[in-house]
Amino acid sequence: MGINWDSLTFSLTPTDTMFISTSDIDGNWSVGEYLPYGDIKISPAAGVLNYGQGLFEGLKAYRTKEGKITLFRPIENAKRMAAGARRLCMPEFPEEKFLEVMIEIIKRNIDYLPPYKKGSLYLRPCLWGTGARLGVAPAPEYTFIVYASPVGPYFKEGFKPIKLKITTDFHRAAPRGTGNVKAIGNYAGGMLPAKKAKSDGFSEVIYLDAKKDLYIEEVGAANFFCIKGDTLITPPTDSVLPGITRKSVMQIAKDVFGMEVIERAVHIDDALTADEVFATGTAAVISSIGLIEYQEKEYIYNNFTVGPKTEQLYNYITGIQLKEIEDKYGWIVDVDI
Ligand SMILES: *Cc1c(COP(=O)(O)O)cnc(C)c1O
Repeated sequence: MGINWDSLTFSLTPTDTMFISTSDIDGNWSVGEYLPYGDIKISPAAGVLNYGQGLFEGLKAYRTKEGKITLFRPIENAKRMAAGARRLCMPEFPEEKFLEVMIEIIKRNIDYLPPYKKGSLYLRPCLWGTGARLGVAPAPEYTFIVYASPVGPYFKEGFKPIKLKITTDFHRAAPRGTGNVKAIGNYAGGMLPAKKAKSDGFSEVIYLDAKKDLYIEEVGAANFFCIKGDTLITPPTDSVLPGITRKSVMQIAKDVFGMEVIERAVHIDDALTADEVFATGTAAVISSIGLIEYQEKEYIYNNFTVGPKTEQLYNYITGIQLKEIEDKYGWIVDVDI
């Protein structure tokens, strides 16, 4: 196979096996099949292609120092996908079966799981309306599909702060829209703002709320946090995606580091005057934010170095993921090969 583990990035490296199961609108899922990874056949009138009736998830399998394989809170991904399915009028894929498929996909693609600290095997479960329907209404048939790709470690040159820009030109999600589920339709709209930000030298944009343009919502497709003294503040998940990393960081900050954790609207001024700011998501786990640009002015955090509390949280959560810190929460699922 000859994968060069040191050159992995977050680009697609196809693996051997994918999983496919189909269902009617009532959730009568077929047993499903493990098939060679490859193209699929789909009707041009499929709900997912015409009306965006689709969801995705993302989770990672890691190899520990001792060579064990772990998944981080995979049932949370199953639950979030089920919540999204209800929102988009799709049948839910059963939680236990979801977990079983994740484990089997890892086993069948085990040669693609990078060595300890060289990256992870990224799993991509999708739920799509694949039945044909002309009018705007739920599709008559659904497909649950899972594929995998090895990906490199996010911070190749170590844990370094990123630069972000608050955008006043675009919004990501509207109140009571679909921003709080991983609907595929939420993401293409973020490509232009991200592209513009990158051409200006930033890693991503920070989105403000669509109602008042005053409160921070998210960083591209990652959750936003700020630290003031011993308080950790993050926006509520009304039009923000309920991240699993977000939820885990909130719990650790409270239980392990004795921080006060508050879920409330984060005013721009709050963020710009915070001691430390960071973003969370499965891809990078925690990204330290070193600089934010807003209305042509730059705000720098902790002299553009990773803040001490951000670093503690990062070390603790990645420590649990790699079984180097005791998992008192039962978040880790061991995958026995
Ligand atoms: C997936 C995602 C996140 C991060 O969620 P995790 O469960 O931590 O990976 C945050 N925001 C958006 C918009 C997302 O799509």
